[in-house]
Amino acid sequence: APNSWESRADTYSLYGFTDLPSVHARGAVVVTHGKGPYIYDTHGREYLDANSGLWNMVAGFDHPGLTETAKAQYDRLPGYHAFFGRMSDQTVMLSEKLVEVSPFEKGRVFYTNSGSEANDTMVKILWFLHAAEGKPQRRKILTRWNGYHGVTAVSASMTGKPYNSVFGLPLPGFIHLGCPHYWRFGQPGETEAQFTARLAAELEATIIKEGPDTIAGFFAEPVMGAGGVIPPSSGYFHAVVPILRKYGIPIISDEVICGFGRTGNTWGCETYDFVPDAIISSKNLTAGYFPMGAVILGDELARRVQAAAEAIEEFPHGFTASGHPVGCAIALKAIDVVMNEGLAQNVRELTPHFEAGLARLAEHPNIGEWRGKGFMGALEAVRDKATRTPFDGSLSVSERIANACTDTGLICRPLGQSIVLCPPFIITREQMDEMFEKLETALKRVFDEVA
Ligand code: PLP
Repeated sequence: APNSWESRADTYSLYGFTDLPSVHARGAVVVTHGKGPYIYDTHGREYLDANSGLWNMVAGFDHPGLTETAKAQYDRLPGYHAFFGRMSDQTVMLSEKLVEVSPFEKGRVFYTNSGSEANDTMVKILWFLHAAEGKPQRRKILTRWNGYHGVTAVSASMTGKPYNSVFGLPLPGFIHLGCPHYWRFGQPGETEAQFTARLAAELEATIIKEGPDTIAGFFAEPVMGAGGVIPPSSGYFHAVVPILRKYGIPIISDEVICGFGRTGNTWGCETYDFVPDAIISSKNLTAGYFPMGAVILGDELARRVQAAAEAIEEFPHGFTASGHPVGCAIALKAIDVVMNEGLAQNVRELTPHFEAGLARLAEHPNIGEWRGKGFMGALEAVRDKATRTPFDGSLSVSERIANACTDTGLICRPLGQSIVLCPPFIITREQMDEMFEKLETALKRVFDEVA
């Protein structure tokens, strides 16, 4: 109907990251409210959101502690900045807290409005630092194919996805290394250890070829998220971190998805046993209740960057809403809720159940692989399991499965050939069973159609 919510959404909105034929076929879902892990649309239909919004609504959609904290802070101080040596008390407290819960003894925090801006900010911090230390040529950024770091011109250049070519990106000097997905990129006869060693050798060869003195830093997600939920091949970080250390290249852990419990520990770098030089945080930082990102500099970088700023009397960077008091108050509460109200614990306790559900669905002849870590999971659709041959791209099987899920009252995300599940941390065992049942119904329906 022309006046429906769906058609009004279709008429006036430029959809981001949306498969347009698929949304035209099915129509938009216009969401009015949420409860626990469920969202409701304008027709009153209920959907279990197995994506936690966009990985971020980890405490669900109606956490009273978070909404009350927001309301109270709006009453006290509804907005302020962090320029000119002025900032809110909430900002001070959050920075202290973030350093306390970080893997660093000491550190400094810089705030943004999003994860993209946090990565952009980190790149500018590195450029600023190297130039101040007399090495202005250290500008190249190393990331990986299938890594996702955001959409601003710099963070999209870091993102290792071919779709950015429509923007003429990446910018020069953004170098993408191999994706550590053994199942997909391992060569015939290559063991996982050999695969990891090959990626480490590629990293070192790239550093030597480009010149260590031209590289500003290395950015990686502990588990790749938007690239399709890709945990690193075994031993990956233990292999690449020493090489980066050998050449003095700063290591930045993009914890926008992994941070605050998603992989079962506070940080993804903890899960993979490495200590970076800085952490990028967003999404879970406020449990999705406020748009905010943060750069957390570890002790050494913090000292060097502060010294560089002192030398020219200023770090000339910042956003109007950097360190927004409402965002900071919500983040303080969200960290407390996730760490002390049993949410992180629920992730650890239900991970075996989550993995068992994924493994069971992966028995289907058209699921080639299940993979995951903590509450991040993916099932990869294949036409032929033995040869790992994907379905024809134009068939877009994962889009069809996601649409079929929507029909059954489940939101899950198609990413490439995979279906991704990243439930909120508050999900119960029963709700998880409901999630798998609905997904199984959708999978069977679509695979029967395309078989
Ligand atoms: N980094 C990672 C690992 C992400 O997953 C995302 C978003 O999905 C970003 C950065 C960008 O964050 P934002 O969408 O808030 O700009």
